[in-house]
Amino acid sequence: MALTDELGRIGLEHHQSSEDSVSEDYFTDWKHSFPQRDLLAHEYTHSWNGKYRRPADLYGATFNAPQRGSLLWVYEGQTEFWGNILAARSGLVSKEQGFDSLALMAATYDAQSGRTWRPVADTTNDPIIAQRSPLSWRDFQRSEDYYVEGQLVWLDADMMIRKLSHDTKSLDDFAKAFFGTNDGSIIVSTYTFDDVVLTLNKVVPYDWARFLHDRISTVQKRAPLNGLEAGGYKLVYTDKENAFEAQAGKNYHRLPLRFSLGVIINQKNGSLGTVAWDSPAYKAGLAIHDVIVAVNGDTFTSEGLVDAVKAARSDKTPITLLVKTGSHYHTVSIPYYDGLRYPHLERIENTPDRLTTLYSARH
Ligand SMILES: [Zn+2]
Repeated sequence: MALTDELGRIGLEHHQSSEDSVSEDYFTDWKHSFPQRDLLAHEYTHSWNGKYRRPADLYGATFNAPQRGSLLWVYEGQTEFWGNILAARSGLVSKEQGFDSLALMAATYDAQSGRTWRPVADTTNDPIIAQRSPLSWRDFQRSEDYYVEGQLVWLDADMMIRKLSHDTKSLDDFAKAFFGTNDGSIIVSTYTFDDVVLTLNKVVPYDWARFLHDRISTVQKRAPLNGLEAGGYKLVYTDKENAFEAQAGKNYHRLPLRFSLGVIINQKNGSLGTVAWDSPAYKAGLAIHDVIVAVNGDTFTSEGLVDAVKAARSDKTPITLLVKTGSHYHTVSIPYYDGLRYPHLERIENTPDRLTTLYSARH
């Protein structure tokens, strides 16, 4: 494990160890490093999900055999799920921090405009065709969305198992049956889609093939949010910051206005790191690398822009930005009046709080 601000950040799974790199103050500034806290739980999970049990088409007996990633939504998606759950269950993050992270992920993928044309299954081709190179309009193209959308699908599956089994079974039972074989063996054990479905059916009978096919292989205009609802929560937006999004923003000097103006801004110099497709900023003609120089006539500051978004809500006057694109300065007017919007999970009263059960340590 590297604690460094010199090397890049990485989490790379191996069978009996992992390579992990986090910020230099990861342990000393414990209070503020929680957005990175699922990393070790994620890579630890990979020992079972990925390294021991591996999708058959990702396993090459020799380097001459090409790999395919058709089941990366299991390999990475369910690892993303367990990484977040185990981080909460072990106390690396609090339940509230875990819920804030989940709200942010659910909102981000629900707003992913590329979901109008591209199913999650297709994004499993990205390691081959894109190799993590920078993409323009990433949320419209989609990239390796099988990680986080996979996490949401497995949350949905966990909650479906709980409902169908009258809260006697969960995805823990799937994991135990699927990954907990040949204890101590480090020989790779491959699996197919049908093996996943077969094990789910042993936990609780259901049309799991269709459940997975619908969510993974077909275009779905909305993110899979059923797991939240079955867990006793709904996704809402308020003007109160999401603590996970805010802290991650501070750690990387980013101002997140993703669900209002549709931008994420470098706080140091006002440059746009993200502009969401079809967002108010997009419609005003903004694109990544544009630099916001001034807001309503005053020099750009994060606080100034946040205040302008708040003021536009009551004044119903467009926000005026002086923007630098390359060496060209121009004025942009954004008629956005819905104020600040940050994602949160809100409890649905008089329903079982299954999400708290899922995020709590097992006894
Ligand atoms: Zn991973």
